[in-house]
Amino acid sequence: MGYGVHRFTGAIDDNLICGVCGGVLEEAVLTPCGHSFCLQCLQTWLDNLNAGYTCPECRSRVRNGDARPILSVRNLIRGLEVSCEHSSRGCTAVLTLDSMISHMNICGYVPIQCSGCGETFNRDRIPEHREQCEASSVAAATAASRYPDSKGRRRGSGDSRVKIRNVLLVRLALPSGSHVRGQSVL
Ligand SMILES: [Zn+2]
Ligand SMILES: [Zn+2]
Ligand SMILES: [Zn+2]
Ligand SMILES: [Zn+2]
Repeated sequence: MGYGVHRFTGAIDDNLICGVCGGVLEEAVLTPCGHSFCLQCLQTWLDNLNAGYTCPECRSRVRNGDARPILSVRNLIRGLEVSCEHSSRGCTAVLTLDSMISHMNICGYVPIQCSGCGETFNRDRIPEHREQCEASSVAAATAASRYPDSKGRRRGSGDSRVKIRNVLLVRLALPSGSHVRGQSVL
């Protein structure tokens, strides 16, 4: 599935749009007939026997393995600027698609769900939530090192660690209705 067009800050050339998913090409590949698609989109299309191994665009014959990566297009797309996928949650970061991958590791607006109380909040709010969560003893497995408990205190008894599920940490693509984006607000 391609990247959601609306995330890109600049205008997107039609040639960078996947004819299958309508997004900006993710891992672009080129068919022998000269059409380009997301790798995954073409794969899914060809795996579907009803399609009869034809190009989604022009219906020329295309077999599995016929398509080749287009590195220049991949590089070009990686250099385009996108807004953070959590912009609707408040993140104002605008970076190249390439840099956005590492931004996902530090973005404070990634939705985190507390497994203690079930509440979902921005990653920045983990320390605050640990203070006030009624489910007590909240410690994030992934966030613990980044957000050490300044008071060094542990709450509750027994296993004081309650896992916080990190929802959708590194998913960049924005397919509409995708099953992995349950926590996102678009
Ligand atoms: Zn696609
Ligand atoms: Zn074609
Ligand atoms: Zn962000
Ligand atoms: Zn909680």
